[in-house]
Amino acid sequence: MALRTVDEHLAAILEAITPVPALEVAVLEARGAVLAETVTATVSLPPFDNSAMDGYAVIAADVAAASAETPVTLPVIGDIAAGEPAVEAIRPGMCARIMTGAPMPAGGDAVVPVEWTDGGTASVRISKSAPPGHYIRRSGEDVTAGQRVLAAGTRLGAAQVGMLAAVGRAQVAVRPRPRVVVLSTGSELREPGLPLGHGEIWDSNSYMLAAAAAEAGAVGYRETTLADEPAKVIEAIEDQVTRADAIVTSGGVSMGARDVVKEVLTGRVTFSKVAMRPGKPQGFGVLGERTPIFTLPGNPVSAYVSFQVFVRPALRALQGLPPEPPTLVTASLTEPVTSPAGLRHFMRATLTFDEGRYSVAPAEAQGSHQLAALAAANALIVVPDDVDSLPAGAQVDVMRLP
Ligand code: AMP
Ligand code: MG
Repeated sequence: MALRTVDEHLAAILEAITPVPALEVAVLEARGAVLAETVTATVSLPPFDNSAMDGYAVIAADVAAASAETPVTLPVIGDIAAGEPAVEAIRPGMCARIMTGAPMPAGGDAVVPVEWTDGGTASVRISKSAPPGHYIRRSGEDVTAGQRVLAAGTRLGAAQVGMLAAVGRAQVAVRPRPRVVVLSTGSELREPGLPLGHGEIWDSNSYMLAAAAAEAGAVGYRETTLADEPAKVIEAIEDQVTRADAIVTSGGVSMGARDVVKEVLTGRVTFSKVAMRPGKPQGFGVLGERTPIFTLPGNPVSAYVSFQVFVRPALRALQGLPPEPPTLVTASLTEPVTSPAGLRHFMRATLTFDEGRYSVAPAEAQGSHQLAALAAANALIVVPDDVDSLPAGAQVDVMRLP
């Protein structure tokens, strides 16, 4: 079987992804989701002219002559607190005490900050003049009525959630964070926390991949590990088709005698050999109406790299976001590397930034079972498919790890 390139495999995946349907959620639930509508302001913000300071609402002409030597004294006709505009208007020769965010009274055209006064409550001595408009926040200075404040396709962080509330929205249409369910297969797998028998290992992949899904902006779930029994494995997968927005399996897709995932999904999932190391055996398909399934190899480093290279971009597509090339940094190799010709090699590495330039040191342990080297790494060196060796000092592309 001819190898598929990494780019071909990713393109085939992205082609087959249907974004998760949009739904209405409460604004606070929308954090991390992608906006599925254009949000416009129905009113201007601020909705009314208001004071930018605690001080006194005045008529600028009344205080034009005020100075430290010639202070102006005005009667205070009342207080205007935010949300309690007891004084609605002032006339020449009067003023009102006003708090930040409180509406300007009709007639008033400037705010004198309290620091420029004696702070009086019945009358106030003002020792500095304020020009018209001083410390007034005008209606519409933030947003005008009808203005678009958020575009469809925006991922909603804290500031955007605040904006939704500021324009009075309680509900909003979003594509929610995809629910990613991870199923680990392997009769040798035990749950962490339980003792190991001979020939057994603790399941690390389902934890790692569920965490990677969360890092990618999705919601990661895991199920109890599955023994290599076809009936159980297919039942567990079928169970998730309508619940999950994406299914990720680990293990059981290579060339062994008991490659259970391949066995139960052949015909529904395309199994390919991809020109990469680690992560050569890959499978991808769509189950039910729109549930993508990624069958990743079981070696932990292979599973992790496959996730970053294929599943992460697919999760963006599931949220209706356009593809985004991986953010690569160019770094100088600290030592020579060799790489299998014809395969894109993702090498675990440590990226450092020193004196204005990046350098990258490949980890010694590059085996796909060597999770410790991955856990100690902060980057992957991407050695191009057609390169089989690179000298120390060569400039290479490096993917930072989340
Ligand atoms: P497989 O792809 O099922 O042939 O597994 C390849 C290797 O990865 C074997 O050494 C497995 O024991 C190991 N492996 C498979 N699944 C997991 C897992 N969930 N956690 C840790 N190691 C695993
Ligand atoms: Mg296995």
